[in-house]
Amino acid sequence: MADNDAICKRFIANPGINPIKGGRLIKDKGPYNSYVRLCEKMGYNVDHLKAEVIIPEVKILPSINQNNLWNWVVSDGAEPIPITYPVIGKYKLDDIEQWRVKVRELSEIDINLDGFNDLQLYHLYDLYNKYFFNSALPRITMEISNSLTKTAGKCRTTRDGKQCQYSIIISKPVFVRLNLKEQQSTKSGGIVCQSRLECLQLVLEHEMIHLAIQFHHPDSRAKDQKIYASHGALFKELVYAYFGQTTTTHQIGNILLTDEKEKILSKDKIKIGTLVSFLSKGILRKGAIVDLSPKNAIVSFLNGEIFKIEYSFLNKIHKDDPEYELLLELKSVLNDKLVYLNKINIGDDIKYSERGHVIKGIAFETYPRSNAIGVKTGSSVYKVRYSHLILPSPTNKINNNNKMDVDIKVSKKDRFHVGDKVKTNNGGRIIIGTIIKKNPVNAVVIDEQNKSWSINYDILDFA
Ligand SMILES: [Zn+2]
Repeated sequence: MADNDAICKRFIANPGINPIKGGRLIKDKGPYNSYVRLCEKMGYNVDHLKAEVIIPEVKILPSINQNNLWNWVVSDGAEPIPITYPVIGKYKLDDIEQWRVKVRELSEIDINLDGFNDLQLYHLYDLYNKYFFNSALPRITMEISNSLTKTAGKCRTTRDGKQCQYSIIISKPVFVRLNLKEQQSTKSGGIVCQSRLECLQLVLEHEMIHLAIQFHHPDSRAKDQKIYASHGALFKELVYAYFGQTTTTHQIGNILLTDEKEKILSKDKIKIGTLVSFLSKGILRKGAIVDLSPKNAIVSFLNGEIFKIEYSFLNKIHKDDPEYELLLELKSVLNDKLVYLNKINIGDDIKYSERGHVIKGIAFETYPRSNAIGVKTGSSVYKVRYSHLILPSPTNKINNNNKMDVDIKVSKKDRFHVGDKVKTNNGGRIIIGTIIKKNPVNAVVIDEQNKSWSINYDILDFA
């Protein structure tokens, strides 16, 4: 049986983390309050943990089950789920998925978005408006843009009072770059999509919730920002109630392998040091996990980049991977850094790297639970992750048995010099130019049109 006292100590020290299972705890949601009650019973002072209830439980909302698809019983011009806070009601997840498929079929848009145009986008909007919103959303302007996706609502004063104009702009490059092969998918709003059209639907759903909020709450900026901010409580609850979307981020471009064999085992089998790959926007990166958080892993890649990545996007590295030896070397360096971190004493001289710069400081504070150290540089203290630490004498580390691998790793960057003529293939387009500067991870290359590019050494060749 778990020791309640130890559980309470952990909970009080870090009420954001589930003291038994790990994972995130949200104030006043899920099991949070049971821990508060338990610790109160154990005699701990938990008054500061009992906060005012801000966000009502989504789960207890009555679910709306339309047996006849879209045969709404709501009054004319009203949304089936009101755009008010707190949100009352939600669609059943099965229904949402069924309706998504239906809307997709009715739209007659090509699954790869071949020949996709503004008219089709209007049609898709109209279908969503009709079948999810009871046609209660306003007429808007829509555009397929070469830059960003955004929703905008502008209210202009006209002679007969206030008139608002709304628009949704969908980014073209995001979808053009998305080349999902068989057994590949990506995510948007926490939901998996397996084609350009499916992903576009998820993005449109997200934008339509923004639009609905702007339409019903044009003064949202003047209201309580916890609720009415762009991705505030109202948005989060509505995008879940209407579409089952659980996050407010799009991860289109990050590739998810749907072939179970290729996927990373499972979240609880991932450890610090696990070797993983990550495919995004056509670039395959390989590296080792340096830290874990409830939803994401922090991965240090062979090319020096460090990213925070949701677990589901990480893939296994096989022993027959051509870069397996290099990855083992990276893993052993990381391991040495962890060992080094645990030996650091307050007051020691510390060196770490930050975006390619070497920074010197003094160990000031330890964070035993987070594999990091507080380093004082000048008058500020920075929390430095162990993977950023520079080992005191890296030259002692080179193991002769591994010399070949070290040489290969070093050569990637060191074989290029300022003035070298180089080329690279940038998504089908060949760039030829001259190196004018060597940065730690990328070379700065000027092409024949005098345009400058920052190119990773890994993908550079001699011209
Ligand atoms: Zn948004």
